[in-house]
Amino acid sequence: MTSKLLCAAFVLAALPLSITFSLQPDQQKVLLVSFDGFRWDYLYRVPTPHFHHVMKHGVRVKQVTNIFITKTYPNHYTLVTGLFAENHGVVANDMFDPMLNKSFSLDNMNIYDSEFWEEATPIWITNQRAGHASGAAMWPGTDVKIHESFPAHYMPYNASVSFEERVAKIIEWFTSKEPINLGLLYWEDPDDMGHHLGPDSPLMGPVISDIDNKLGYLMQMLKKANLWDTLNLIITSDHGMTQCSEERVIELDQYLDRDLYLLIDGSPVAAILPKEGKFDEVYEALAHAHPNLTVYKKEEIPERWHYKYNNRVQPIIAVADEGWYILQNKSEGLMLGNHGYDNALAEMHPIFLAHGPAFRKNFTKEAMSPPPHRGHGKPGEREQESNAYFIGVTLGSIIVIVFFIIFFKHLILSQIPALPSMQGEIAQPLLQA
Ligand SMILES: [Zn+2]
Repeated sequence: MTSKLLCAAFVLAALPLSITFSLQPDQQKVLLVSFDGFRWDYLYRVPTPHFHHVMKHGVRVKQVTNIFITKTYPNHYTLVTGLFAENHGVVANDMFDPMLNKSFSLDNMNIYDSEFWEEATPIWITNQRAGHASGAAMWPGTDVKIHESFPAHYMPYNASVSFEERVAKIIEWFTSKEPINLGLLYWEDPDDMGHHLGPDSPLMGPVISDIDNKLGYLMQMLKKANLWDTLNLIITSDHGMTQCSEERVIELDQYLDRDLYLLIDGSPVAAILPKEGKFDEVYEALAHAHPNLTVYKKEEIPERWHYKYNNRVQPIIAVADEGWYILQNKSEGLMLGNHGYDNALAEMHPIFLAHGPAFRKNFTKEAMSPPPHRGHGKPGEREQESNAYFIGVTLGSIIVIVFFIIFFKHLILSQIPALPSMQGEIAQPLLQA
């Protein structure tokens, strides 16, 4: 698997080669930052001078199509593997794997079972296999043992640890005697407040300003540690957010007896496991239940979502239209903001900015989407098929491209002959010419 990832990365990396040979050893560092739920257009809701400083002196992609489902764990794992959900195996925040007969739940922080993460290899492990050290401050999955490894430095997940403490750890690791060359930093907002207030709330303005101040703090600390000019900083997110309302609720109990099925994951993509022998009854009851609910048998899930070929995708999924909320019963209550919807919807899209010696200055690319469908990875063939997918996922690819360009420049040299134009298109405009 690793060798295939490397091979794909070499191909991806080959086009913008010129930059790789001008980077000094102390410039071969990447810090990947995620502000959870930072929708692409939040940058323009209120003044965000620190984000705009990064854009002016670095690069930005305005519209990045992330992966389906547009939830936190699937997208964070895509960012560090370059794979779609059906290939990396983290298909939702709440999952059931019938082969393992095990459950996974972000809500209950039951996320530490290695087997849920081991259909792919995250970049912090690949980096360490190449002889370097990685450090992670709360990035999803970095405190899970994956393929028998942890990052060299990591913080066990604890939401109450402040942003400042997380930054302090990252700086400490980048400047220690045996420094890391790859850092991963995660912050829970604006996602938490976006769910709570709804993205349309005027109260989101101060929340976005606070994130901008946090970025300012990070920049200040990087400058103080003499890292700002040498480190390659990538600022991104996992997904956006859309406004929900009590007026737009789809109540499953109105259509379906709870005794017929298990609800593995909720809104807006209900993952439904019918009880033994009840598949047809469940499907018929739901198929035309509500005009804002589209119900798919697993094999009917659109190819463009790259979502059907994994055991953890349930036999039926019911997908709500944007802004609609799926509940079993209205008494459960809802959040005023949510995400998880179709990844083609602009409101689901995250931010992408980068700054550092590897990147161009003051450059904006309008949009990036995964390329058209290129085949699929059936269960059992996943390792073989993942190369194609690896090449396909834009956001993760960019990060992995930058990473490999910086760390494997000599090896890349020998791979120059293969230069598919599509892959070059993904990264080339962002990197130094
Ligand atoms: Zn999230």
